[in-house]
Amino acid sequence: MKNFTYYRPTSPEQAVGLLDAKWGTSELLAGGTDLLDLQKEYIAQPDKVISLRDVAVLQGVHPSKDKGELTIGAATTLATLASDKRLREFLPALTTAAGDVGGPQIRNMGTLGGNLCQRNRCWYFRDEPTHCLLKGGDKCFAIDGENRYHAIFTQGHKCVIVNPSTLAPVLIALGATAEVLGPKGKRSLKLTDFFHAPNSAMEREHVLASNEIVLSVTIPAKGLKNASYEVRHKQSYDWPLVQAAVAFKLDDGKATNVRIVLGHVAPTPHVAEAAAKALEGKEVTEATATAAGEAAAEGTKPLSQNAYKVKLMAVAVKRAVLTAAGHKKYWEV
Ligand SMILES: Cc1cc2nc3c(=O)[nH]c(=O)nc-3n(C[C@H](O)[C@H](O)[C@H](O)COP(=O)(O)OP(=O)(O)OC[C@H]3O[C@@H](n4cnc5c(N)ncnc54)[C@H](O)[C@@H]3O)c2cc1C
Repeated sequence: MKNFTYYRPTSPEQAVGLLDAKWGTSELLAGGTDLLDLQKEYIAQPDKVISLRDVAVLQGVHPSKDKGELTIGAATTLATLASDKRLREFLPALTTAAGDVGGPQIRNMGTLGGNLCQRNRCWYFRDEPTHCLLKGGDKCFAIDGENRYHAIFTQGHKCVIVNPSTLAPVLIALGATAEVLGPKGKRSLKLTDFFHAPNSAMEREHVLASNEIVLSVTIPAKGLKNASYEVRHKQSYDWPLVQAAVAFKLDDGKATNVRIVLGHVAPTPHVAEAAAKALEGKEVTEATATAAGEAAAEGTKPLSQNAYKVKLMAVAVKRAVLTAAGHKKYWEV
């Protein structure tokens, strides 16, 4: 690991003041479950590491009584999210997704902000000597290489990573907003607009500037039924192969305001409009959930080794829809 100077600011403003205006030379450290790996592998080589450990205002889950919404500090751990009883009742998609991340050690250290800002898991990107597009090279090696875990929505993308965050699709489906602080002050950013498909070493998987910090994420209380379903290799601590997050209103058994967001299938979380349309206004049944899953395939363009993900995605959507509507989970034995 390259030597660096370690800072422990106590306010978000101090943290922002320590960050540089270009990527690469300074990094925020939250739980460190991604950043330290990247440093050990020489993928990240910051001169300054700025710890958020002492920035108390970034901690905790705060319901707002008057607005009914819920604000979660960016440094809140995934373990806290997974075990919060208030969240489990109204936002089962979020507690399920947080509880499915990695193993207990990762969830105890990993934070909401770090989860949203973590770097992708492409093995070419993570391999130090491989000079891929995201490390200043001119080629994405996955396009004609080992691409079984990569994107199936590939149109227009020079780099075919998948966004690694399993909280992101859930938060997008729930209509969440991030509060961000930079040198010019605070701004609000819809989670739908938070992610970005990077094409060069000067870009990240999100749209934040290098000297901006996520303060919190706010979820509006809309009384939506919600669920997240992941398909994994096995029940291990690895990332899912595909994930579906769904949220909708349920009136007289019929789903309205349907949002279906897919994870681990595209360089950004993928809002599956055709799938949502297939379910909108319909009674939630096995047949309509299946139809939504099949519609999710619209626009896929798999690579040489990952067409299998299209089928998994249909299953994930169907099961997430049925779970959100409270149907019996017949696939669980
Ligand atoms: C074995 C294993 C399995 C995993 N499985 C999953 C999985 O299934 N699903 C999933 O989603 N993730 C998974 N992860 C990733 C894990 O969720 C992330 O590593 C973790 O959430 C990152 O949080 P952190 O606080 O440790 O971030 P750090 O490692 O501290 O930081 C990660 C990045 O985020 C930036 N950052 C941190 N906080 C902020 C902030 N407030 N504002 C702006 N930037 C910030 C840092 O500068 C850094 O670039 C897994 C990790 C491991 C090791």
